Amino acid sequence: MTTNNHYDVIIIGTGAGGGTLAYKLAPSGKKILLIERGDYVPREKDNWSTRAVNLEARYNTKEAWRDVDGKELHPHTNYYVGGNTKFYGAALFRLRKEDFGEIRHHGGISPAWPISYDELEPYYTEAEHLYQVHGNRGEDPTEPWASAPYKYPAVSHEQRLQHLHDDLERAGLKPFHVPLGIRIDEKNARKSLCIRCNTCDGHPCLLGAKSDAQTICVDPALDHENVSLVTNAKVLRLETNGNAREVSKVIVDRNGVREAYSGDVVVVSCGAVNSAALLLRSANDSHPNGLANGSDVVGRHYMGHINSVLMALSKCPNPTVFQKTLAINDFYFGSREWDYPMGHISFVGKLDADTLKAGAPAIAPGWTLDLMAKHSLDFWLTSEDLPDPNNRVTIDRDGQLRVSYKLNNVEGHDRLKAQLQKALKQTNCDVHGHECHQGLFARNLYLGQRLPLAAVAHQNGTVRFGDDPKTSALDRNCKAHELDNLYVVDASFFPSSGAVNPALTIMANALRVGDHLLERMK
Ligand SMILES: Cc1cc2nc3c(=O)[nH]c(=O)nc-3n(C[C@H](O)[C@H](O)[C@H](O)COP(=O)(O)OP(=O)(O)OC[C@H]3O[C@@H](n4cnc5c(N)ncnc54)[C@H](O)[C@@H]3O)c2cc1C
Ligand code: SF4
Repeated sequence: MTTNNHYDVIIIGTGAGGGTLAYKLAPSGKKILLIERGDYVPREKDNWSTRAVNLEARYNTKEAWRDVDGKELHPHTNYYVGGNTKFYGAALFRLRKEDFGEIRHHGGISPAWPISYDELEPYYTEAEHLYQVHGNRGEDPTEPWASAPYKYPAVSHEQRLQHLHDDLERAGLKPFHVPLGIRIDEKNARKSLCIRCNTCDGHPCLLGAKSDAQTICVDPALDHENVSLVTNAKVLRLETNGNAREVSKVIVDRNGVREAYSGDVVVVSCGAVNSAALLLRSANDSHPNGLANGSDVVGRHYMGHINSVLMALSKCPNPTVFQKTLAINDFYFGSREWDYPMGHISFVGKLDADTLKAGAPAIAPGWTLDLMAKHSLDFWLTSEDLPDPNNRVTIDRDGQLRVSYKLNNVEGHDRLKAQLQKALKQTNCDVHGHECHQGLFARNLYLGQRLPLAAVAHQNGTVRFGDDPKTSALDRNCKAHELDNLYVVDASFFPSSGAVNPALTIMANALRVGDHLLERMK
């Protein structure tokens, strides 16, 4: 290996964690290498085709994993510069302050984090400003304290959603505007980067107006001459040095050619499934269970949230273009009748008939797919699944990746659906009154109407951080307890996952670890 292949910092993966960290470290002047297994998302019309994206899965990896029974699993995940943020819905939520402590759920305990909300708060603010989050403070009844306002006003509701908002308020709820990382200027539509289209959630942005990790972090980081990126470069394994305390080589398959790099600091940020897989595949004589895995937690405690997409059909049409503006957190911690957390209600991007075809939908009696799509409000329900050591990522003898997962803590989720149903029955319209709402229908029928395991969008928890090396792989700075130069900054570090979307927490934590690394490298 030539000295040209040695870096101060190597970051593996360019998504919410790795991309954000690169941005933070770039001005330091340190020699930084980003290694990304994917390429840039091609800019093409198909970016905004629901048929190409949802039905033909054009941008999903073609890789196959296995499930607990050894059956092939085609994960809905994306390998590109910017990682899954290229495709995300950009709903950028903070975890609640309480999520950092231990919370009793109906299905068990959601464990505490080694750091408090107050420690992460400055980085939440930094991340919100960096990713240009548009939101209104003070509307969300469970939102934690914040040291600064959002820099941009919330994205407005279109008429149908404003109507729903008013109905829900009349029913005694506190619906609020979703904090969104889209670069829209509603006061100056002509100059606005974002045109408020119907193909945002799940799609890459043709206009570069979505605040994803490539646009916001990787591209500006690469403007610094000390930062470089290799694409189509899949990290195969990490090797350790003589005393086994340091990662000494990063072994890469780049366009079919084997390469090796080394770094004073090596940061793994491949997403929760692939980071665990990489550490497990890097087992050697000194680390027989895989790197950072003396505790045997690496790969375990896989979480992905309990998610449902539910279509509420109304007699009135829903002509909304950009639907992801409204959310409800009234049941996040429970209700008067139910003492346990239920979760979070918000929206997916507006569903159309092509998207519905991909989900093996239940066709409501008397409706067609097209009609359903034109009349539905398309809700996204998230509840917390609890960290179970038996829910885990492992590597089979033939090198294949396996995700074993059994859903838990479902009672709260079922009650959340019932709460939504109840609230919708109280909605009203001028033409049909209370008869307008026709019922809730699952977008797909797998797994008792929840999203199937292949929906790994919210994957987290597989390389948890903590103060005790016996029960965690990483310390509070996300450095491996057992190695001096190995860090993990993607969603793997979560000891529990709350019930809001994870990306802002990953970004905020990457900024926090970035500060630690800047201090370390001073
Ligand atoms: C359709 C969709 C919608 C979503 N909507 C939202 C939302 O609205 N709000 C929200 O908060 N979250 C959302 N998410 C989730 C969010 O995108 C993820 O939580 C976040 O991107 C995870 O960040 P990460 O850094 O852990 O991993 P990723 O962003 O997945 O980044 C991992 C990177 O590592 C690379 N990589 C993997 N293995 C290797 C390897 N061996 N060598 C080199 N590189 C490797 C990958 O190609 C990828 O670029 C959504 C996700 C999807 C798929
Ligand atoms: S133009 Fe706006 S709404 Fe459309 S994909 Fe881009 S960021 Fe999303």
